Amino acid sequence: MSNEKNLEKIVSWAKRRGFIFPDSEIYGGLSGIYDFGPYGLALKNNIKKLWWKTFVEDRDDVVGIESAILMNRKVWQASGHEGNFVDEMVECRKCHQRFRIDEISQEENSKTQNPNIKQSSNIKCPNGGEHEFTEPKKFNPMFKTHVGVIEDEKSMTYLRPETAQGMFVNFKQVMETSRKKVPFGIAQMGKSFRNEINTKDFLFRVREFEIAEIEYFVKPPSTSSGQAGDDEKFFDEWLKNWEDFVLGLGIKKENIKQYEHPKEGLSHYSKRTVDIQYNYPFGWKELTGCANRTDFDLKSHQKSSGKGLSCFDEQSKEKYIPYVIEPTMGIERLMLAIICDAFEEVPDGRQDSHPEQSEGSPANAGLADKLPDSSSPSQNDTLEIVLHFLPKLAPVKIAVLPLVKKLSKDARAVYDDLKSCWGDIEFDESGSIGRRYRRQDEIGTPFCVTFDFDSLEDKKVTVRDRDSMKQDRIEIKELKNYLFGKLSF
Ligand code: ATP
Repeated sequence: MSNEKNLEKIVSWAKRRGFIFPDSEIYGGLSGIYDFGPYGLALKNNIKKLWWKTFVEDRDDVVGIESAILMNRKVWQASGHEGNFVDEMVECRKCHQRFRIDEISQEENSKTQNPNIKQSSNIKCPNGGEHEFTEPKKFNPMFKTHVGVIEDEKSMTYLRPETAQGMFVNFKQVMETSRKKVPFGIAQMGKSFRNEINTKDFLFRVREFEIAEIEYFVKPPSTSSGQAGDDEKFFDEWLKNWEDFVLGLGIKKENIKQYEHPKEGLSHYSKRTVDIQYNYPFGWKELTGCANRTDFDLKSHQKSSGKGLSCFDEQSKEKYIPYVIEPTMGIERLMLAIICDAFEEVPDGRQDSHPEQSEGSPANAGLADKLPDSSSPSQNDTLEIVLHFLPKLAPVKIAVLPLVKKLSKDARAVYDDLKSCWGDIEFDESGSIGRRYRRQDEIGTPFCVTFDFDSLEDKKVTVRDRDSMKQDRIEIKELKNYLFGKLSF
């Protein structure tokens, strides 16, 4: 997966198979906004559930909250978002497009702190070749809105661009009511909005997206005793937790790497920031990040609100404001990385085999089945697409397929029995068996259960594994146990 073409294939597959498509498409769409269809939503929810289980349910030191998308404007003034959350942009007079300066030439920008982008001949226009850039302008990507009926300066606030501030302003309340002591974390997952200057690369840079992040509160370095804080230790721990989580979703190790932000490029609140980058079809880009936000946010909110946000140290009998380690993850960027890693295109198709060679059996799911299909990925009828999602992420875990419609009643009884254990399963009786296998491969279903004529006699069904295409003949009464073994995670 290393070129733009593959992204186009993924975008087209995502729409064709009902995973992800442009928002309000019948009206021409809305730039940088996407909707998730049934399979896309199922995949997204599976990722979110795993995240919540891993970082909230399975831990004693992290509690979850849900704060509102709209917050008092003073929150954004204190956090520095209103004043400092700005992107610098330029317009190219040749192609009439606007670009974020830091994205025009990342390599060039990292060499110089304040590149003279207007004049520099080393910097190329992202649309190719020569440029004629305007003077850089500052742009705040927060969406403005009004609360109440009167639209004036006083009623103005923003759609949140991150979920973190909801955890900072609720820090004291949550710590006290959940009876937690530092070190502990608050986790939150939810919609965030950024009016990005340039949206491209599908789900990578969108204007409405979900962030899953943790604010982990730790002992700060002590200014009076000179004692080191816990922040550096916990930073390393959370960075590792984050990387392990990404790898646990099936993303290949060779497709991720860490990027340490140089000291001079750190955000105003950060002591250290490390991104985990993914090798997207359009290059290595930030998938997730981990930042040591120090005591910046709590101190700012304490000062602006006048409300104490400190903790008490029983040992030293001193009050202190904790440092905060923030691992953060964009769900859409993660989803795109998972799809890129799982996506396989097989130009000449794959050949299924089956022990039963009777007419219409799964064995004939080869060339004879490669008849035109309106949902076929291309004019090339032998081309197959397989999504190798881990079973825990797959939108559909099991598909039950009667070999022919005549067997639907008996196959449905098998389906109903499985449905009582797994919600995310499908029954599919339309089209040839080979075509149905291909359809399930394309949405990443790990197991297909086929009920054929022999099943009526021997009370067995065939279970086909998506990746190996190996087929096991299993007694129907043993089927649930067999599948539990394969689908326990
Ligand atoms: P970038 O430099 O790419 O704009 P960022 O450093 O501003 O990203 P953060 O503020 O750290 O991003 O946001 C937390 C996470 O949210 C990122 O690690 C990323 O996964 C995700 N994210 C940020 N902006 C977007 C966006 N426009 N579309 C999708 N995901 C995003």
